[in-house]
Amino acid sequence: MDQSVIAGIGNIYSDEILWRTGVHPERKVSSLKGTEIKLIFKAIKETLTKGIDFGGDSMSDYRNIHGLPGKFQLHHEVYRRTGEKCNKRSCAGIIKRKIVNGRSAHFCSVHQK
Ligand SMILES: [Zn+2]
Repeated sequence: MDQSVIAGIGNIYSDEILWRTGVHPERKVSSLKGTEIKLIFKAIKETLTKGIDFGGDSMSDYRNIHGLPGKFQLHHEVYRRTGEKCNKRSCAGIIKRKIVNGRSAHFCSVHQK
């Protein structure tokens, strides 16, 4: 969630990236292991690619140049799924929401540490 390290990744994508990586949104960058940083960079690439493949995210007001909505919002694993079961295979977690550094964060209560 620290914007001084990588800025400009919105809440939807940062929630999805951290969920995919298994990193808790309250973790400090300085506490991340090298392998976790590598996983985060991989997940950034995969998640943004997925966002582009689905034509962007229209949970809010985003529309493409033809005025049409994207479909990424139909593929969220964690964003705005508060209280629902985690989609990760064999994870019994429930999605929670918390304000971290003034930003809303959605995360799994079990596999994100
Ligand atoms: Zn989980």
